[in-house]
Amino acid sequence: MPVLITAKVLALKSKTELSKEDLELVEAAKEAADRLHVDDVHEVAAALRTLNKRIVTGIHIEANVGFADVCGEVAAICTAVSEGYRSFETIVAIWGDGKGNYELLSPCGRCREVISDFNKDAWVIVGSLEHPYKVKISDLLPLKYNSSRK
Ligand SMILES: [Zn+2]
Repeated sequence: MPVLITAKVLALKSKTELSKEDLELVEAAKEAADRLHVDDVHEVAAALRTLNKRIVTGIHIEANVGFADVCGEVAAICTAVSEGYRSFETIVAIWGDGKGNYELLSPCGRCREVISDFNKDAWVIVGSLEHPYKVKISDLLPLKYNSSRK
């Protein structure tokens, strides 16, 4: 499967160590996950850093009807847009149990599309909390969907 091997190599192309600012973003997501946690309803928080270095957070909403769920990343983007920020440089999502246990999450396919819609050069923090790193969203979504309207 040479295509899959090539895609895996491309996914690592932008792999970069986290900066101090990135680590602060991870902590902001953890703080939001703790502050807003409700079992089975609000368990994934995201934090993004706007281009002018403002940190904005959001919390996921688990809906009774699954397809209506709102991911933490999209919630953070909605908060940023509501506050007048339409672009951001870095985003991270953290699952938390409200008891101090966390997990770093890679964005789902829908979130990858939305992140890319707002900034094709955005950084996404992935990996694990023990070994986090960041990659460009274009590496997580190499063949982005293009509608005829954009
Ligand atoms: Zn998602």
